[in-house]
Amino acid sequence: MTAKRIMSNPTDCIFCKIGSGQIPSACVWTSKEAIAFLDVNPLAEGHTLLIPKQHFADLRDIPADLLGRMLAQAPKLVDAIVRATGASGLNFLQNTGASAGQAVFHVHFHFIPRQANDGLGFRWNAGSYEPGRADALQAAIKAWL
Ligand code: AMP
Ligand code: ZN
Repeated sequence: MTAKRIMSNPTDCIFCKIGSGQIPSACVWTSKEAIAFLDVNPLAEGHTLLIPKQHFADLRDIPADLLGRMLAQAPKLVDAIVRATGASGLNFLQNTGASAGQAVFHVHFHFIPRQANDGLGFRWNAGSYEPGRADALQAAIKAWL
């Protein structure tokens, strides 16, 4: 069964408005098709978001070639954010779907600078597979690709 997807409306989308300059953002980098700006409620100082200017609800919707051009900027962004904040690490995150924490349904990538012992955490409780379950999942995922 496939979970119902939230399809946001581009005419009422906060990130479309940031992309078009209708509402202000603390932009750190822009191109004709993408923009990176500071998250207004940062998990750490320097927390930055990278978005396409065109509206796509989540990672399943954005064309691969546009995604590739956008993500080509990621290494430079990581380096600049780490240098500017004095961070010793950075989490590069993407939330797809409300259950994964997506609140803004215009695809975006988080760059969250990290320091040792900053209290943000990153260890999730890892599980394990019952015999045969990993094989079944491997086959199912491959079948959908
Ligand atoms: P997500 O939970 O992955 O959908 O993340 C959405 C992020 O967008 C959150 O971290 C918000 O703080 C951030 N955000 C929402 N509105 C704005 C805004 N106007 N400017 C900058 N960041 C925003
Ligand atoms: Zn949008």
